[in-house]
Amino acid sequence: MPPPLLYTGCPLDRAAHLREDAGWIAARLADDESRIVPVWRGRSLVTPGEAPAVAPLRGPPAAAFVAAAAGEVVFLGLGTGGEAWFGADLSRLDADALPPPPDGAGFVDLKRIGPRLREADGSLLAYVRAIVHWHQQHRFCGRCGRPTAIRQGGHVRACADPDCGAEVFPRTDPVVIMLVEDRRSSEPRCLLARQPAWPRGLVSTLAGFVEPGEALEEAVAREVREEVGLEVGAVHYCGSQPWPFPCSLMLGFRADVVNGHAIEFDQRELEDARWFDRAAVETLEDHGLKLPYAGTMARALVEAWLDDPRGRDTDVHVRRRR
Ligand SMILES: [Zn+2]
Repeated sequence: MPPPLLYTGCPLDRAAHLREDAGWIAARLADDESRIVPVWRGRSLVTPGEAPAVAPLRGPPAAAFVAAAAGEVVFLGLGTGGEAWFGADLSRLDADALPPPPDGAGFVDLKRIGPRLREADGSLLAYVRAIVHWHQQHRFCGRCGRPTAIRQGGHVRACADPDCGAEVFPRTDPVVIMLVEDRRSSEPRCLLARQPAWPRGLVSTLAGFVEPGEALEEAVAREVREEVGLEVGAVHYCGSQPWPFPCSLMLGFRADVVNGHAIEFDQRELEDARWFDRAAVETLEDHGLKLPYAGTMARALVEAWLDDPRGRDTDVHVRRRR
């Protein structure tokens, strides 16, 4: 079994039915058992070392400090012991004004430590990072320009002007990410490409944002056409992954090429794009090339293809809460 996708498998029960109960939320915030997961300027609070872990703040004094400093606290859900978990944005504080971290913890960029986090921690930190980012971007009403305030425990923002009353909901940006494959040639091949800004030797699948008015299958076909000049036929969904940098949802596909096999890549976006057969993918390192790290959708798509390049058992391993 390949490693599960990073940032999946959040251990919390999101308990949406509790979000409307402001009194319950206030009481839980002051509860000894509750945990607060802070974000500071895009960074997450984790314990130090090779195996970092979420370092939540605990206790009524910390909760009161965070609530005052952040102004708004988001109810994330209930932990496995029934305890309440909250997220808070401390970005307004200068570094020397942050609350004392537990156990030598520090604020670190999630993208840097994601692959080293324990299963549940990466998903939890991704959830907090994404929703805090959404709050930061929606402080003012898009309709009338007046300030907005949180509702529903931080899962809605509403315009403060009752005559306007506009509500906005947490936003997630869908991204299609696809392994283009050639199943018709005698030796199955997949397409890997690289962008000039990527780390040296990195090759990966194609990807792009879904546009308004577009089905996912159409987005896959358009991106492949734009980036490498190929037409795809059948498109198979493989799995999805939250990617909170800042607020994407990666939707993984395999797509069969149907027209010729001559790649004409868009040189404004790509530095290279080529077909690789299985042996070539398995010996990338001999040629100074490498795949994205384990736990990314791109890597999972390629590994599923390596396991069964002609098959249709294409699912990637999304970890689900039990
Ligand atoms: Zn408004």
